[in-house]
Amino acid sequence: MTLLRVENVTKRFGGITANEDVSFSLEAGQIVGLIGPNGAGKTTMFNCIAGYAPPTTGQIWLDGAKITGFTPEQCARAGISRTFQVARTFTSMTALENVMVGAFLADRNVGNARHAALELLAFVNLGRHGERAAASMTISEQRRLAVARALALQPKLLLMDEVMAGLNPTEVKETVEVVLKIRDRGIACLIVEHVLEGIMPIADAIIVLDFGKKIADGTPAVVSNDPKVIAAYLGEE
Ligand code: ATP
Repeated sequence: MTLLRVENVTKRFGGITANEDVSFSLEAGQIVGLIGPNGAGKTTMFNCIAGYAPPTTGQIWLDGAKITGFTPEQCARAGISRTFQVARTFTSMTALENVMVGAFLADRNVGNARHAALELLAFVNLGRHGERAAASMTISEQRRLAVARALALQPKLLLMDEVMAGLNPTEVKETVEVVLKIRDRGIACLIVEHVLEGIMPIADAIIVLDFGKKIADGTPAVVSNDPKVIAAYLGEE
């Protein structure tokens, strides 16, 4: 079943066309990677989907309902959560409080929000870290904390922006395992990532952007052998 449909989306900032006539779709429960060189328009596409910067033209559908032009809050209520490239944890709060902020939006009962937050901290392998100040956590821990907070909104679709950037191989592996567990809960994941060894083995599909346009869309095997993708992004290695 199609969960997300992006239809002919163009996003312009003055004279800059950050996304040009991009179309793709994502099925419920899929892991899809969105890759491409710096400045290709990946984060802009996330901003269009999650309501942070509406498309200039084109439409976005979630579960068959048009969500084009929705605010971030409306997108969240419709079932879209996201993490940001620079993890926006509330650094003066504990890890548990960070996740409770998300959980409160889904359930105003303090006890329920606390219970949900504790479960999600364990889910992202931060079960013993609830009372730590978010500011004292490693980058890897903060990224997983941001994932837990986004999951607290009970999304159907989670947008993850570079959750593996700057992590060591052990941390990448740990993050990949969390992504697989998210998929196993039936939540679809759209992932902007430059760490290809993290995303390629687990993605059902890869979409490649270059200069704002989609240049490839297919299985990781097909996309990584596509001459256009090799020329624009992957290189001969
Ligand atoms: P990276 O991999 O470096 O994060 P990206 O693929 O996510 O890059 P975007 O951040 O979406 O690329 O940027 C696409 C283009 O749109 C770039 O040329 C960027 O400078 C431009 N752009 C993005 N946001 C804005 C904005 N708010 N105002 C003007 N130009 C913008």
